[in-house]
Amino acid sequence: MRRLVTAVLVAVGLAVPAPAVAAPASEDRPAVVEARTIGHSVKGRPIRAWRLGEPGKRRIVLVSTMHGDEPHTRAILETLRDGRAIRGVDLWVVPTYNPDGRYESGRRPASEPETRAVMAFLEEIDPVRVVSFHQPLNGVDTDTLDPRFARRLARALRLPRTSLDCGGLCHGTMTMWFNHRMCGSALTVEYGARPPRHRMVVQAPRQLLGALGAHRTSRG
Ligand SMILES: [Zn+2]
Repeated sequence: MRRLVTAVLVAVGLAVPAPAVAAPASEDRPAVVEARTIGHSVKGRPIRAWRLGEPGKRRIVLVSTMHGDEPHTRAILETLRDGRAIRGVDLWVVPTYNPDGRYESGRRPASEPETRAVMAFLEEIDPVRVVSFHQPLNGVDTDTLDPRFARRLARALRLPRTSLDCGGLCHGTMTMWFNHRMCGSALTVEYGARPPRHRMVVQAPRQLLGALGAHRTSRG
């Protein structure tokens, strides 16, 4: 099954590069060192990625809102983007993978432009870790390439450890593709259906940075 999924994804044209538009860091977002549009949705909305932290450190990518009915976890990534500068990690965030807010898997794996844009982005950035945030299954997938990191993240985020492997037919598709094609490891994190806002904008960003060995500067 895994080989088949990988082969299908490769066959549908992952080599097509996403248009990358660089923009300078903004003064009202001290954490942002680079901003890009990595592609567009079915309806033409931009898919945005922000680079935070320190280029040259360990490269990590966080993505959320792959599925339109899972809107809450994007607040974690937006809080990281909009807060103080981040040190100790070269961090990219894609808060809204699916800006149209649809929930459709597409006719076949990687048939959707959002999926192709994020895959091309991950191939270019080549991070050591990817963490993909979802809802509502409430747990960190420890059935993964790097179970030690998964356990650490589960502890830090106060989420149960679980196995989310569903043969690549549901939430694991992008994570599975990354784990089989790339050198780094990707992990799926699921929050519940209605995580409290305080948890999303205050606790989870801090817990996540701690698990990644990163921190915010005390000012600026
Ligand atoms: Zn999902």
